[in-house]
Order: sequence, then C-alpha cells, then structure tokens
Amino acid sequence: MSFESELSQGSFYIPECVKCSIIIWPPSEFCNQCFGEIVLRKKISEGKIIEFSRKDEEYFCIVEFENQIRVMAKMTNIPKVGQMVKILKSGISKGNYFFEVT
Ligand SMILES: [Zn+2]
Repeated sequence: MSFESELSQGSFYIPECVKCSIIIWPPSEFCNQCFGEIVLRKKISEGKIIEFSRKDEEYFCIVEFENQIRVMAKMTNIPKVGQMVKILKSGISKGNYFFEVT
C-alpha cells in the first residue's frame, strides 16, 4: 500500500522510516536521513488545530498530527485553537492532499 492510495480512500497513515523510525513528512519513498525504506505504520484520525482562517462559509485550519505533521484542513463548524479534531475526509485533489475535519 502507498501513502497516497490509502489517503485517497480516507486513511491517513504516518509515513515512517524502517531504520531510524522518524516520521517522513512530506511523504517520500525513502528516508531523507538514511535513505531507508518508508513504511506506513500507524493510522491516525485525530489532530489538533493550530490556527484557522475563515473564507466565506468555510474555515480552513492548520491541523497538527503527532506533534509534527501539519496539514491544511477544511472545517464547516467553528474551529477553536487547540481543539482536537477528527478526520472526516481525506484525499488527493489536483496533486494536493486535502483533508476535512470535524
Ligand atoms: Zn531513516
């Protein structure tokens, strides 16, 4: 399985190096420290809102996972900084990852 095929089915896995166990973000085929292979070890569904902005009726949040990975996510209800959110949808659109959280 690859990170992108899992993500497009709504599963967000943490890409990790098999040798040094560090998180590889953005996802890549090889570790940028030791060139080790990457495995998808852990599936996560919850992250923390770092900041957000509003555009029309939607909110765009920066959500942090595992204290390390930050992604942009859409949210329809009103976000709060520091709030824990769950991934509602994820996928790839025009080459970019997208997330929707609640
Ligand atoms: Zn490594």
